[in-house]
Amino acid sequence: MPHQPELVLVTDLDGTLLGGPPRWRRRLYSWLAQERARVLQVFCTGRDLRSVARLLQEDEAMGLPIPHLVICDVGCTVACGHSLEPVPLAVDPIEERWRGMPERLLPLLAGIRGLAQQPVTADRRLAYQIELEELDLERLGEIEAHGVDCLVSDSRYLDVLPAGVNKGSTLMALLEWLEVEPSRVVTAGDTLNDLAMFETGLQGVMVGNAEPGLLAALPRLRATYLARGEGCEGIVEGLRHFGFAHLLENRI
Ligand SMILES: [Mg+2]
Repeated sequence: MPHQPELVLVTDLDGTLLGGPPRWRRRLYSWLAQERARVLQVFCTGRDLRSVARLLQEDEAMGLPIPHLVICDVGCTVACGHSLEPVPLAVDPIEERWRGMPERLLPLLAGIRGLAQQPVTADRRLAYQIELEELDLERLGEIEAHGVDCLVSDSRYLDVLPAGVNKGSTLMALLEWLEVEPSRVVTAGDTLNDLAMFETGLQGVMVGNAEPGLLAALPRLRATYLARGEGCEGIVEGLRHFGFAHLLENRI
């Protein structure tokens, strides 16, 4: 891991680092692979660890480099990039807050229309696919009264998370341990589960393919730049916008 990174790039995966025109994806991935000593690379995703592991082994990943660190499960898991071993210092307090929740919440969630019958595999959270038109959002308020947050993202996913745990809160804790200067950090995302990252006030890139609900939040997100480019093209555009063009010069 770089000790004094010039940039800490924290990217969502689906629609963000895995999004955009293929030529931009290849360019950005090859640049990230070359800049491992200067750019600390963090994935920040709603996928779980198993899904991240599969992704890094896929041939279709176009050379996506292994990151230094992974925040997954929408902020409920932190792991080393290479080993994909969870970091106990980060995960244990979240595990503590999650204890007993599945037993309490699963029966209640089973009675809500519009949720897929089975939760998707996930750690320290419950993840469902949803039918947004059928889902009564007020029922989610009842669930939240049990000490969790219900987060709908991409109009397709529902995550039930320990209250106060999200991509933003976990990222801020991580940056504090790493003693990183906030001015060196750039985040990027495309759906509502990325909103908490943008709300940290760190420099953020909302990529051009962002979902409407996230775009609606843009006016109050002072440090967030809306890119024209989608996915990887938007990330590169955002890095230039935030003054990191010198790192990209002639290499991308
Ligand atoms: Mg995404």
